[in-house]
Amino acid sequence: MTKKVTKIGVLTSGGDSPGMNAAIRSVVRTAIYNGIEVFGIMHGYTGMVEDDIIKMDSRSVANIIQRGGTILKTSRCKEFMEPEGRKKAFLNLEKRGINGLVIIGGDGSFRGAQIFSSEFNIPCIGLPGTIDKDIAGTDFTIGFDTAVNTAVEAIDKIRDTAEAHDRLFLIEVMGRDAGYIAIHSGIASGAENVLIPERKTDVDEIVKSLKEKEKRKKLVNLIIVAEGDEFGGANDLSVYLKDKIPTLEVRVCILGHIQRGGSPTCTDRVIASRMGFHAVECLIEGKHNVFVGIVNNKMHYIPLNEAVKKKQKINQELINIVKILST
Ligand code: ADP
Repeated sequence: MTKKVTKIGVLTSGGDSPGMNAAIRSVVRTAIYNGIEVFGIMHGYTGMVEDDIIKMDSRSVANIIQRGGTILKTSRCKEFMEPEGRKKAFLNLEKRGINGLVIIGGDGSFRGAQIFSSEFNIPCIGLPGTIDKDIAGTDFTIGFDTAVNTAVEAIDKIRDTAEAHDRLFLIEVMGRDAGYIAIHSGIASGAENVLIPERKTDVDEIVKSLKEKEKRKKLVNLIIVAEGDEFGGANDLSVYLKDKIPTLEVRVCILGHIQRGGSPTCTDRVIASRMGFHAVECLIEGKHNVFVGIVNNKMHYIPLNEAVKKKQKINQELINIVKILST
């Protein structure tokens, strides 16, 4: 028999993403609706280890659905990687009677949750909060839609100035291990090429294509580079291209952290609200140690130990589309 969940903790962990607040709000209000007490754990797993835990009520999450960042703050917590740190964390939950957790974060946070739940038998539910969309088993992750829309808005502005000067722009977007922001923003902004970590970058092919386009007087070129591209970031590529085509007017723009911030889009708010609601339902129904995903508009529950083994793969169709539409 699984124990009834009566008091839960909610935390945001790892990289922040827009929509985390909407998820927190949903978890808190769904729990209270069901007569479950809720505690906010500050700064991700750090708050669990250092006992920075606050009682929450419906009012604690008022006026946050539209805000980026996370009111609970986030961090990367080294102590939680060690058994002693996790033991401390468990004792801090135990003394308050917390017997369920909702973890909003990426695959690293899920890995931590899975280890913790197996050591201390505390049911954990994950919500995929990451701008990178690299978690397998869900069509959406909280924050991706906002981040990619922020990138597209910025790239559109860069296109105006690129066009005015007939310049090549190399625009670096976030994605150390995943090319989703790059490929989606590249398609949406009509980019020439998209370089992603999941695929070998053929720089000589890029040189050939730019030379050919120069001949055809197609002079406005945008190349989107994911920060983790295997050739290197936009700066490395710029040096290489200038060396190969000295006549090329090339500029680099690194979008950086603006992609993490800002008010979440409607899509991110809605999926965060749905996922938060279902996370609490999972705890109530005894569906433990899963993360909540959405596939074909239906909720999917993927065991945490499976989730940490797989990464979302880049869809080959998207890669082909970039190529064909940029001619
Ligand atoms: P994200 O969740 O965005 O992928 P990280 O990979 O940094 O971010 O993970 C967030 C936190 O999850 C880490 O700082 C650590 O506290 C915890 N964590 C990650 N991997 C493990 C692990 N193998 N064991 C225990 N805790 C982990």
